Amino acid sequence: MTSFRSSIKSIRAEWRYRSCVRSAIEIPLPCRPATIVSPHPDDETIALGGLIARKRKAGIPVRIVLITRGEASHRHCCGADPDLIAGLRLDQFFRATGHLGVTRENIHVLDVPDGGIPCPVDPGFEDLSNRISALIPVGEASEIYCPHPRDGLPDHERTAGLIEKIVLNRNEPFQIHHYPVWRWILAPTEKTSKKNQFLAGKLDIAPVADIKKRALDCYLDTPAPCGYPAGGILPPVILRFAREPREFVFMHVSPDRNQLRTKR
Ligand SMILES: [Zn+2]
Ligand SMILES: [Zn+2]
Repeated sequence: MTSFRSSIKSIRAEWRYRSCVRSAIEIPLPCRPATIVSPHPDDETIALGGLIARKRKAGIPVRIVLITRGEASHRHCCGADPDLIAGLRLDQFFRATGHLGVTRENIHVLDVPDGGIPCPVDPGFEDLSNRISALIPVGEASEIYCPHPRDGLPDHERTAGLIEKIVLNRNEPFQIHHYPVWRWILAPTEKTSKKNQFLAGKLDIAPVADIKKRALDCYLDTPAPCGYPAGGILPPVILRFAREPREFVFMHVSPDRNQLRTKR
């Protein structure tokens, strides 16, 4: 029954991905300095490894904010020591982002508990959004990349909420780009009205495919003591999509701050 359900999910993910390939508009490489906000070590590379590599090759500054160390990935597997898992995953993260061309001084690890990224009603939400905001210099007019608000995983969706809060608080021309990680497989089917809030863009990453492959491989080369990948077992479709020669970003149809206020 489980394998039947997972094959249905894979077929649905494949259908969603291919529909997006057909409907998304080709976009050129966005050229502003970028802040990539990643809930866990690997999200930045799976979703945006090609974009990051292309930006760095073009000399565009990229900063990565890693919110958690990903220590909970074996909580429901073998119960391995969370600090040991975090150590493995951070090592993978630094090697992967190094391949993509991001230097250590442009990486910020916040060490929020994995699985515990706050939502707006939680204590700590305001404080965390302020901490992330403080890492983006005033007047930088940067692009901010965060997971899709309906990516299907609580930490991912809450990260999108934190970024929307920052954009609302600061009267600056930020461009938010939402990236999909688990969305293909986990997001519930949406009404057309919700889908239409975003414009899907696709970026050609073929010129840096080899760099992204090396970065992705970092996340597969050091298993946890139980033998499974340190970051847990990713559904094969997610890895397959990560190896495709394009990446997607979802942009607000109207980049108006009022739209963020009334969206939910
Ligand atoms: Zn994640
Ligand atoms: Zn395990």
